[in-house]
Amino acid sequence: MARFYVLLGPPGAGKGTQAKVIAEKYGLVHISSGDLFRENLKNETELGKLAQGYMARGELVPDDVTIAMVRDRISRPDCKKGALLDGFPRTPAQADALAAMLKEFDSKVELVPLIDVPAEELIERLSGRWTCRKEGHVFHQKFNPPQKAGICDIDGSELYQRDDDKRETVENRIKVYTAQTAPLIEYYSSRNLLVKIDGQKSIDEVTKDLLTAIEKA
Ligand code: ADP
Ligand code: ADP
Repeated sequence: MARFYVLLGPPGAGKGTQAKVIAEKYGLVHISSGDLFRENLKNETELGKLAQGYMARGELVPDDVTIAMVRDRISRPDCKKGALLDGFPRTPAQADALAAMLKEFDSKVELVPLIDVPAEELIERLSGRWTCRKEGHVFHQKFNPPQKAGICDIDGSELYQRDDDKRETVENRIKVYTAQTAPLIEYYSSRNLLVKIDGQKSIDEVTKDLLTAIEKA
C-alpha cells in the first residue's frame, strides 16, 4: 500500500528541509503546496494569479482551489508508492478532503510528525532563509549556509529571499497558523496519528528523530 505522511508545523519549522531528505531516503515524492503555488505564480497560470494576493498577505489560499491543486498532484502516477506532504493540509476541511482522496486510492495517512518550534525562533529562521529557484531547496544564512553565497549547493541554481519571508508577513503567517492550522494537532492526535518532534534541535538531529518515528509507525 502507498505510504502517505503529513509534515505539520508552523512556517519556518523545517518542514521543507526535512521533507527533501526523508522523501529521498524512502523514495517518496515530496509534495509542497507552497512550491506548487509558487510554480503557478512563476508560470502566470490562472491558479497562480488567484493565489498571489493571499500569498503576499500571508493568508491561506481558499480550500477549494488548494484541494483541487493537491488532488491533481497526488493523482499522478509518481505518487503510486506514496508521498510526503509538506504544507498541506492546513485546515480541518483540507484534512477531511485528503482523507477522502486517499481513500479513493485505497490508502490513508500513516503518520503526522509535528515539527515543534516556538514562535520567537521562527522569525529568525524565516528572515535568514534563502530558497532555490529551481527545486525549492532551502538554506539559512547562519544555520545552514550554502557553500557559495547565492547559489544552491544541490542544483547550482540561484538562491533568493521570498517576499513573504519579511517580518510583517511572517508575523501574519504565524497568526494564521495558530488560528487555522493548529487545530490539526488535535485533529490528528485524536486519530492517533500525531507524533511530536522537537524542531529546535540541529537539522541532522531532527532528521534522525523523524526517521525513528517513521520506522516505529
Ligand atoms: P518550513 O518548510 O517549515 O517553512 P524550512 O525547511 O524552509 O521550513 O526552514 C526554514 C528556515 O530554517 C530555513 O532557512 C532552514 O535552513 C532553517 N532551518 C530548518 N531546520 C532548522 C534547524 N533544525 N535549525 C536551524 N535552522 C533550521
Ligand atoms: P512555509 O514553507 O513558510 O510554511 P509555504 O511555502 O508552505 O510556507 O506556503 C506559502 C504560502 O502559500 C502560504 O502563506 C499560503 O498563502 C499558500 N499556501 C501553501 N499551502 C497552502 C495550503 N495548504 N492552504 C492554503 N494556502 C496555502
